[in-house]
Amino acid sequence: MAGRALICGGSIGGLFAAAMLRRAGWEAVVVERSRTELSGRGAGIVTHDLLNGLIRAAGAATDDLGVSVTERVAFDRTGGRVATLALPQIVTSWDRVHSALRALVPDGAYRLGQSVTGSRQTAGGVALALDGGHTMEADLVVGADGFRSAVRGQMHPEVQPRYAGYVVWRALAHEADLPVTVRDAVFDPFGFYLPHGTQIIGYPIAGPGNDLRPGHRRYNFVWYAPVAEADLADMLTDDSGQRHEITIPPPLVRAEVLDRMQAFARAHLSAPFLEILARSERPFFTPIYDHLSPSFADGRVALAGDAACVARPHVGMGVTKAAGDAEALARHLAIGPVTEALARYSAERVAAARIAHDTGQRLGRYIFAGSPGDNPDGRTNPNLAAIMAETAVVPAGLT
Ligand SMILES: Cc1cc2nc3c(=O)[nH]c(=O)nc-3n(C[C@H](O)[C@H](O)[C@H](O)COP(=O)(O)OP(=O)(O)OC[C@H]3O[C@@H](n4cnc5c(N)ncnc54)[C@H](O)[C@@H]3O)c2cc1C
Repeated sequence: MAGRALICGGSIGGLFAAAMLRRAGWEAVVVERSRTELSGRGAGIVTHDLLNGLIRAAGAATDDLGVSVTERVAFDRTGGRVATLALPQIVTSWDRVHSALRALVPDGAYRLGQSVTGSRQTAGGVALALDGGHTMEADLVVGADGFRSAVRGQMHPEVQPRYAGYVVWRALAHEADLPVTVRDAVFDPFGFYLPHGTQIIGYPIAGPGNDLRPGHRRYNFVWYAPVAEADLADMLTDDSGQRHEITIPPPLVRAEVLDRMQAFARAHLSAPFLEILARSERPFFTPIYDHLSPSFADGRVALAGDAACVARPHVGMGVTKAAGDAEALARHLAIGPVTEALARYSAERVAAARIAHDTGQRLGRYIFAGSPGDNPDGRTNPNLAAIMAETAVVPAGLT
């Protein structure tokens, strides 16, 4: 029986949950901590049939979703081709997916500037506590409040994200700003640069306003770089000396941190990717963490998306996993009482998340496979074929 659901977090995971539950007849209200509408700075998201089907199941269209890439190419340090693989995919952006889902939830059911502090299960429902002392009542709470989830913190206080030893730098360059030689060499395919100890992937995405016309697109630059835990603490400290936990807002990254990154890039990256980085808007970094909650439900409270599990971005399953959580939630809730439905949901989705989580870890370990000094120019990566075939592809067992 459908009832009232409160969804904590209004990003992609929360919006998928709201859209799927609304389609199943639930009254779904999203509470989002941010005071302003969210924006993802255009970061790229790789799609496939599984994700496209889930977007449509939520009620959004998948026309003009993004840029079509047909092949994958690994480049060496000079920009020469090392290997190619035919693999057609549509590459979209976080903003494109978020805005399509946001349009499915009426403004009255999407409440900005409300921060969840915890929940309390009552005899026939659940009470959600908000910052400021206000409480909301519902039949179901969904914690889609990201990998530092307050909802998970209450459900599984022992679960803490573990730093993986490297960060991802991301940046966007406008196609029109790139030299013709760089555009011709690397812009169109899904590109890789795979020397020992670091990794670049990159691909074209839409330009501002979902502009898909050649010449108006952007290049999505993704660079995994090792950072020791002690150095990470310094990178997370802003100019005022404040140390940020886990991530730092991009505008607060100190100039010297960016300078060090550029120097490291000059020493290690391949020529065309260096050009792209040099012409990008301000790069920003995200430390890579692992976490997988042992269960995704307790009574009438469920976890979904990154709150439940973070799979490293190599596997490209974060959005798909969040969408799959939402679909399974609505499907199980259609049968029987809420607590029983959530128990079945948890069993199904922990197993699915583990596949994505473990695949992401394995792909991450490939960055550091072999010995330092091996494969300095990206030509002899021992796992080249697996990296090219499995990055941002639905792992076997999840299709
Ligand atoms: C480099 C990189 C590349 C990626 N590439 C891909 C890809 O190709 N494909 C893919 O599928 N995924 C990719 N991902 C992952 C993907 O972006 C996320 O997994 C996905 O967006 C799911 O996020 P979420 O909504 O669960 O959590 P989040 O996006 O973290 O959202 C959580 C929301 O909850 C809000 N919130 C937090 N605390 C509270 C609170 N107490 N009260 C109320 N609101 C709160 C936050 O403000 C936020 O809006 C990538 C990630 C990275 C870092």
